[in-house]
Amino acid sequence: MFDKSTWIKLPRNVLQGHGVLDDLSAAVDELYLSGDPFLVTSPSPDRIAGDRVRDQFDGIASVSLDRASFESVERVVDAAREADAGYLIALGGGKPIDVAKMASDRLDCGFISVPTAASHDGIVSGRSSIPEGDTRHSVAADPPLAVVADTELLAEAPWELTTAGCADIISNYTAVKDWELAHRLKNVEYSEYAGALSQMTAEMLVGSADSIKPGLEESAWIVTKALVSSGVAMSIAGSSRPASGAEHLFSHQLDRIAPGRALHGHQVGVGSIMTEYFHSGARGEWTDIRDALSTMGAPTTADELGIDGETIIEALTTAHEIRDRYTILGNGVSEEAAIEAATITGVI
Ligand SMILES: [Zn+2]
Repeated sequence: MFDKSTWIKLPRNVLQGHGVLDDLSAAVDELYLSGDPFLVTSPSPDRIAGDRVRDQFDGIASVSLDRASFESVERVVDAAREADAGYLIALGGGKPIDVAKMASDRLDCGFISVPTAASHDGIVSGRSSIPEGDTRHSVAADPPLAVVADTELLAEAPWELTTAGCADIISNYTAVKDWELAHRLKNVEYSEYAGALSQMTAEMLVGSADSIKPGLEESAWIVTKALVSSGVAMSIAGSSRPASGAEHLFSHQLDRIAPGRALHGHQVGVGSIMTEYFHSGARGEWTDIRDALSTMGAPTTADELGIDGETIIEALTTAHEIRDRYTILGNGVSEEAAIEAATITGVI
């Protein structure tokens, strides 16, 4: 009996380009939503672009968050209920988007993603990452109903946020390899289409490396396009597998043992160099990953991350404990193997 089924949830409107923030209300109109919007933002995005949103939605209620936390999610849920909101608009970098994503899940309403930094693929995906104590929770929710990515605004974000977005995309290389491996060894469901799309996204980004430079708005365009396409790959797969493998486990582990040191994208980029080494050895493609990262100005070493070698090794040897996701790390790599990988690849 044929009993397969799938449910692909994608953003319906993706608006990207110079000045498109001013078309936000038009993009929202096209969604035929009911009820009032509610703005979720944080202080600096609010300062930069809050009024441009308010100008388009008369009397819109809002909250400004200092940090992403479960408390913030509760705050948004309560305030949006009080305002009788029909949907949420998240304006900001990672924080407001992660929080709005989880809050909209709780409120059973949709949200619109308006990123002010192209720093990770969470701006498009259905996954939310919220820190709690010394750990981070990755929670499954729905992707945004629409994404409005104004490249003029994104190009003004600190450059390291853009290179973090690039590195998050480059890590798709190893994420897809881990996914294929898990499919072969653990019968994890694999989507050829999502895997190919994710890999192609990374290849296209690397192919455009020459146009990814500070002060060039086209950089924001290229990176956002890649983040959208990576998010679509996750939507098709119905999981973060196409964009999250062992390099992400490594980064999540760093978040636990060395919180707040480096950006998510930068950590997964460095992780990807080492997990690629585990996949294919000394003559493998880890040099390509390292070179792509360094061309774009993303860190390739522990020093550049601002994290000491010992912490890198601890994270690498314990990353498999983060969650039940089979990767090249298997049931854990030995300290010797971790040191060898980190040393040969020049990470430490
Ligand atoms: Zn990521």
